[in-house]
Amino acid sequence: MRLASLLFVLFLALLPGCDPAKHPSRPKALFIGLDGVQLAQYLSLGDATNLKQRLYYGKAYAGGINGKSSEQPTLSGPGWATLLTGVWSNKHGVDSDADSLRINPAFPSLFKRLRQALPNAYLSSIVNWPSINTAFLLEDAHGADVRESGLSDEQVIERTLQVLGNTPADFTFIQLDEPDQIGHDNGYGDRYEQALRKADSEIGRLLDKVDQRRRMFPQEDWLVIISTDHGRDYWGKGHGSASEQEKSIFIASNKPLNQELTELSIPAEMPGPDNLYGLPAQTSVAPTVLRHMGLTLQPEWLLDGTPLLGKTGARKARADENKGRLRWNSNANGYLTILKNGHVVAQVPARDGQWTDPQGMEKQNDYVLVLDDTPTAVRNRPAAKAFVIEESSY
Ligand SMILES: [Zn+2]
Repeated sequence: MRLASLLFVLFLALLPGCDPAKHPSRPKALFIGLDGVQLAQYLSLGDATNLKQRLYYGKAYAGGINGKSSEQPTLSGPGWATLLTGVWSNKHGVDSDADSLRINPAFPSLFKRLRQALPNAYLSSIVNWPSINTAFLLEDAHGADVRESGLSDEQVIERTLQVLGNTPADFTFIQLDEPDQIGHDNGYGDRYEQALRKADSEIGRLLDKVDQRRRMFPQEDWLVIISTDHGRDYWGKGHGSASEQEKSIFIASNKPLNQELTELSIPAEMPGPDNLYGLPAQTSVAPTVLRHMGLTLQPEWLLDGTPLLGKTGARKARADENKGRLRWNSNANGYLTILKNGHVVAQVPARDGQWTDPQGMEKQNDYVLVLDDTPTAVRNRPAAKAFVIEESSY
């Protein structure tokens, strides 16, 4: 053990409240971001991967719902911003890879939310693709204790192992970029497979480190969550469009996740290609991390995603603008509370699965559905006004 690690262990041992019997749970989260990893290709590596051997995983979707207000390009900027905020680009505002874009301060990322709730938390953002830290999160991750940008994947891993070994490491986000770069250069094939194998073995090293740390500090409760910003097109070279392959992503975790990941819940009127929209969305990662870290999800945060730990609340909340109707999926017996632009407007049986706004949806509104203390939000697109022939115009 290096001296720094030893001192850190002594420091923790001297902290009051470190007795595991008194504090059985000290939440920690590691979010491993893999850029541009196509799940089908990852699965084709066989059964000996860390993904299959050591993680719970399921398919998910990026890019929002085609034709709805959540639709966004399957690009890295919008993808990482959505993973880190829990909302789509119609809220966070990062709708391309342009370095001039910043996350809308009204929809802060995990870094700002955790800093506000846990002022002493040790937060790290260690990325290969610099734009995440130097553009989109420029102000947002400003208060992070470690912020490293433009590292090679090897350097990202080395730095992360240091953080996990020598610091409180309350929340650590990392991004590995090589699978995406190699995909752009070569498409699918041997080199892309090698890049995925390498990323998988790096995940293995990080999981080993977390296991080692859990043995050292049994009071720590570790969530490791892994996802990707977008899928890839048919050939594996490109992404950005709305095809099923480009929208297909995955979410993996060291913890078993709830029904949102394990049980398909299909929006009946718009299932998407191969029931894609019955899967969890990319917006689910942020609320999962926040809940694990002990924060109560607040309706006013307008988070679009369903958390993957604990109660799901209403699933697949969505707006049907033409009918002025909210829809959702739920088998719960209780009542669901609906807020519109911050005010409670209705309480309806959760099983109803729909509610019509008497004022229609000609304006943009922020709706929140609260069930089992779990909020889920939807921002509608202003509905087209009914076509009226004005006689005066003749
Ligand atoms: Zn790319």
